[in-house]
Amino acid sequence: MGTLEVVTDQKSVCGEGPVWDRQTNSIYWIDIVTGDIHRYQGGARDLVTLNVGQKIGAIAQCRSGHLVAAIKTGLSFIDFDNKSHWPINDPEADIPGNRFNDGKCDPSGRFWAGTMDDGHGLKAMGSLYTLERDLMVKKKQTGLTIPNGLVWDADKKTFYHIDTPTRKVMAFDYDDHNGEISNPREIISIPQGEGAPDGMAIDDEGMLWIAHWDGWKVSRWCPDTGSQLDGISLPVARVTSCTFGKKDLGDLYITTAKVGLSDEELLKQPLAGSLFVIKDSGYKGLPANTFDNRGAAMELLTGWRSF
Ligand code: CA
Repeated sequence: MGTLEVVTDQKSVCGEGPVWDRQTNSIYWIDIVTGDIHRYQGGARDLVTLNVGQKIGAIAQCRSGHLVAAIKTGLSFIDFDNKSHWPINDPEADIPGNRFNDGKCDPSGRFWAGTMDDGHGLKAMGSLYTLERDLMVKKKQTGLTIPNGLVWDADKKTFYHIDTPTRKVMAFDYDDHNGEISNPREIISIPQGEGAPDGMAIDDEGMLWIAHWDGWKVSRWCPDTGSQLDGISLPVARVTSCTFGKKDLGDLYITTAKVGLSDEELLKQPLAGSLFVIKDSGYKGLPANTFDNRGAAMELLTGWRSF
């Protein structure tokens, strides 16, 4: 296994949502708290940042080359290079205390994103939504507290999801044709003392990679047996998410946070908030799914708003 490196000097308050862009060989990630979307391309092109001016939960790539994003005010298309956005839908315009959290695309090109209470009470106010390819929004689940870690298996038969305070990974039967999920069952339970499960990725052997919030690590699990197969320690406590990158998807990118750490804790973990990478991890990921917005006639959308 390769060694753990810091990708750039940039440190997020709450780094999250890493997405590998196979078109440009760059890594995107976000800062939930500051509303930054970062894109890093190795070499001279380095780091580019777009601030969306509000909290952001997740981004995914569209087949058109745009991004689709779940931001505080709803779901939006984002033109990263032109620094503009096109609001699509805000399914929770009537719940101002909520914000979007983790999100990803399914194998058929729908964008899934969960919401949560943005206060400190950890109320089970969240829901899980899909943005369909025709831009309609459907509600998939309710009563969630901190929805995280969305992953689909390579067979397009199973959907994996985490509600962080439960410390469990749930599996659902997934119908790729209509996006329906059913038959929820608990497959993994994170032991006490290992933090709480946050973001998640899947490798080409179907094994799940889980980021441990306050657990100082990412870990690899077998979804069939519920057993932990591997673990990689990090020098920071708040490990938020991970994804595979590089042309062969052999590098493992890991986002982290410094939000909520005391000055004393920050002295002990000065790299908190960094984006890390394990080059040539010895494992290979599945490519990130993209949003199928071919039905949205992007060239006909008017009223793009500048950030
Ligand atoms: Ca998260």
